[in-house]
Amino acid sequence: MTAQDPNHSHPPARTRFAPSPTGYLHLGGLRTALFSWLWARHTGGQFILRVEDTDRRRYVPDSLDDILQGLRWLELHWDEGPDIGGPYGPYVQSQRTALYREHAEQLIASGHAYRCYCTPERLAALREEQQRRGERTGYDRHCRSLSPEERAAKEAQGLPHVVRLAVPLEGTTTVHDLLRGPIVTDNRQLEDAVLLKSDGMPTYHLAVVVDDHLMAITHVLRGQEWLPSAPLHQLLYDAFGWEPPVWVHLPVILDPSGRGKMSKRRKVVDGKEYLALVREFMEAGYLPEALFNFLVNVGWNFDPEREVFTREEAIQRFELQEIHPAPAALPYEKLEWLNGVYIRQMDPTELKRRLLPFLSRQLGIPEEDLAGDSRLDRLVPLIQERIKRLDEAAPWLDWAFVDADALPYESPNVLLGRKLSPEQSLAVLRKGHEILQQVEPFQADAIQAAFRAAAQEMGIKAGSFFGPFRGALTGKRVSPPLFESMEALGREQVLRRVERAIQALEAQLQRTP
Ligand code: GLU
Repeated sequence: MTAQDPNHSHPPARTRFAPSPTGYLHLGGLRTALFSWLWARHTGGQFILRVEDTDRRRYVPDSLDDILQGLRWLELHWDEGPDIGGPYGPYVQSQRTALYREHAEQLIASGHAYRCYCTPERLAALREEQQRRGERTGYDRHCRSLSPEERAAKEAQGLPHVVRLAVPLEGTTTVHDLLRGPIVTDNRQLEDAVLLKSDGMPTYHLAVVVDDHLMAITHVLRGQEWLPSAPLHQLLYDAFGWEPPVWVHLPVILDPSGRGKMSKRRKVVDGKEYLALVREFMEAGYLPEALFNFLVNVGWNFDPEREVFTREEAIQRFELQEIHPAPAALPYEKLEWLNGVYIRQMDPTELKRRLLPFLSRQLGIPEEDLAGDSRLDRLVPLIQERIKRLDEAAPWLDWAFVDADALPYESPNVLLGRKLSPEQSLAVLRKGHEILQQVEPFQADAIQAAFRAAAQEMGIKAGSFFGPFRGALTGKRVSPPLFESMEALGREQVLRRVERAIQALEAQLQRTP
């Protein structure tokens, strides 16, 4: 990895993305991963992937695959992680439980934590009582003051227990957030949080602190929803005698109206639906380039004067200090626009490659067949200007991949030229059929020239003359450019389609003399 920070104004950072396999990757999660990755790359450091899977109850089996797939799609490659290992492994918390237990023991020994034998029943009753009295609910530190004899007796009985942090009863705890400065919390507001559960599994608080320290993480970027946990983490760092990392709590992401949070699920705002899951953006045909560009500007700003930039440029300019802590509304229409920009500037061969899975799924044609279909090579450049998402290509192109006899007509009128009667339209089609049989070469310019001449000869406006052929060829009123489409389809297919249109009009005229 080459250093991206030529002035060495920042030493190489170690950042991590620490997803829990409890749900699919959403935009907020991807933005956290992206900023962590950017900072590691900007400073020439490392980006680490760690799986925080200690909450077995909320485990969603295919979520980890989904998360990894989303990161790979955006090309946020990690330098250390569960699949590739690294010097600080293992990178899956459920494989590190011995470490957490050791550290919990260490805190018990130093007086910073204690075993709590309270039963779930006692805790429930306590909670009820607190609620009844209108008090703040929370653990009453019952087991914190057990005498050594009482403790020994509970131990002798082999009672199940958790380990709790002994939060200082007085004073304050200060968290330094890079974007928000010092945040001071009165320790009396903090609960003796559970560090180790009765099954020996750590809670998030213990595991995250132990791992960030042992993995030598220098900068922790995470969603703002973790800010309330930060004082507990600070207390844990203090208890262990460790330096905390630099904390950067990223701004909340709001829906486009700016009124509500953009959550983990797609959301309807003012009658429009907005996607939330990364897999939904993939399926809708957004490009990773566009989403990358878009997300970089959610909470940070590359340059107010420039909307489009490359990954390398983003890496070079990215600065943690410049992240704006205020909630950031998602301008989805900008994503839509960016996606169109990236599609238009893409090499057509590459665009075809990316369209294959979409067209295959939407048209029901195997990808291999489409890949080898030369018509597609000719058609893709024709729609490049017209689509903003990869899933929009199929309706522009579906007509080309059905047999002439099976082509559906959008409406019976689709074969009529503008302001032309059925008889005139039929005459136009017959004339065109003659031309299409003979014109050489069978290329857009030559066909168009011949059609224009014929239109003039018949005293019909060129646009009206072309109309019936658009209908004959595609069955639609709106299509990619007509003559290029003819060239792409080839003479034989075009003639068959025009013949079928002639028959259809003839039949129509016979029915309504
Ligand atoms: N596992 C936590 C999550 O799923 C990570 C929080 C953190 O980054 O500290 O969001």
